[in-house]
Amino acid sequence: MRAQPKASHFIGGRYVEDDQGTAFESLYPATGEVIARLHSATPAIVEQALAAAADAQADWAARPPVERGRILHRAAQIMRARNRELSVLETLDTGKPLQETLVADAASGADALEYFAGFAPTVTGQTIPLGRDMAYTLREPMGVCAGIGAWNYPIQIAAWKAAPALAFGNALVFKPSEVTPLSALALAEILTEAGLPAGLFNVVQGAGEVGAALVSDPRVAKVSLTGSVPTGRKVYAQAAEGIRAVTMELGGKSPLIVFEDADLDNAVGAAMLGNFYSSGQICTNGTRVFVSRKVLNAFLEKLVARTKRIVMGDPLDEATQMGPLVSAVQAERVLGYIARGVAEGARLVCGGKSPSGCFVEPTVFTDVTDDMTIAREEIFGPVMSVLAFDDEDEVITRANATDYGLAAGVFTRDLTRAHRIVGRLQAGTCWINAYNLTPVEMPFGGVKSSGVGRENGHAALEHYTRVKSVYVGMGDVDAPY
Ligand code: NDP
Repeated sequence: MRAQPKASHFIGGRYVEDDQGTAFESLYPATGEVIARLHSATPAIVEQALAAAADAQADWAARPPVERGRILHRAAQIMRARNRELSVLETLDTGKPLQETLVADAASGADALEYFAGFAPTVTGQTIPLGRDMAYTLREPMGVCAGIGAWNYPIQIAAWKAAPALAFGNALVFKPSEVTPLSALALAEILTEAGLPAGLFNVVQGAGEVGAALVSDPRVAKVSLTGSVPTGRKVYAQAAEGIRAVTMELGGKSPLIVFEDADLDNAVGAAMLGNFYSSGQICTNGTRVFVSRKVLNAFLEKLVARTKRIVMGDPLDEATQMGPLVSAVQAERVLGYIARGVAEGARLVCGGKSPSGCFVEPTVFTDVTDDMTIAREEIFGPVMSVLAFDDEDEVITRANATDYGLAAGVFTRDLTRAHRIVGRLQAGTCWINAYNLTPVEMPFGGVKSSGVGRENGHAALEHYTRVKSVYVGMGDVDAPY
């Protein structure tokens, strides 16, 4: 199986190679086969990308927003037309089942392009009456932005950053995760084919040091990272040196609370989606499932029966519901957490083993207590912890007792309780009787250690533009000297 791109990087509207960069391989996690060989960006490549972005940005910002939108609309259409091809590429790079990538990855990227294409021409400033004088505001692009992505949703992350950045007149240099380098290049090809002028969307490959080179460059006005909290701390600190704006989409350990009056089938389905979709490699996953003790047994019975039916196997077979983890390193990490869970006294009721290679079975622990490692740390694998609770105040206190604050969910038929609870949950995104749905219309992001800023929705405007205030003097200058 090969998915070799024409070259490692995409800069100034074309593929670019520099074989002086460190060589690395992209593997198909289901089999370990090498699907592509690439090179990390050398300082010369990083320089070329930033220079291309800086050169192209001013002309792009000067175009009428409706024109920028038209190009992004075209890109969304091409993406949808190529959905299968892009989905196969994403499946090869990440190991996620085709059943998922066909509906969740490029499709969500196309949604973002479409949404921000339509949003761009609606952006306006304010007029501020000041008596004789007046002021007005302009929404200006930030300039050159740097995007750094994680490996779980590579094309979606690239598109969620590219779409608002480009719509509002910025240029972007994007560094995908070294583990999943391929689909950002496909997005660059599509944007170029749609008519995006050269230099506005550039892709440079490499590990953390390439990301760091972007974050510290004086030409970069804004940095958007999707990644773990430890990386977020480093990138945020480095961006602060240059007083650069940031968006930080980081990790989580989110609570999903199931009350005794919930529709249990729906709650079980949501808990499974929120722990096993993408082999559990989703930042917002509700990995701490708090279930009312009154329905705990019934919940577990349904959960275990449905979990055992999950079809694991060849990700390219559309009947497969669960593929491998993204890498052997990640699979080892997850198995390490499962072993910790057992050692610390949690009860393994389902899964727990690795059938082969990077595969890890969907795993359910019960009798989990708040102090256990599996209830405190982000595992980023198919491992669900079920915790029993007795009353509302108690469960809210326990749900909030974490440094993370990315997401949270509540299942109950009592709508007053549902709204009361989400009002008290410390999370950037909450779901009532649903879980893990992140439509582009809705702002997305975390609080506490889970992040800063928001992607998607109207909120993204704040993070890819800045406000210029203009005071207009309408009379004589009143100088006392
Ligand atoms: P990492 O934090 O390891 O890496 C994220 C990106 O940052 C990668 O491209 C990585 O490069 C790069 N990077 C690493 N160090 C630096 C540095 N010093 N300066 C600049 N860039 C750097 O995350 P993972 O890729 O392992 O992704 C999993 C994490 O991402 C989980 O914690 C998950 O919760 C989070 N995530 C958050 C989401 C959100 O929207 N809130 C969504 C998806 C994931 P490389 O890996 O190539 O070395």
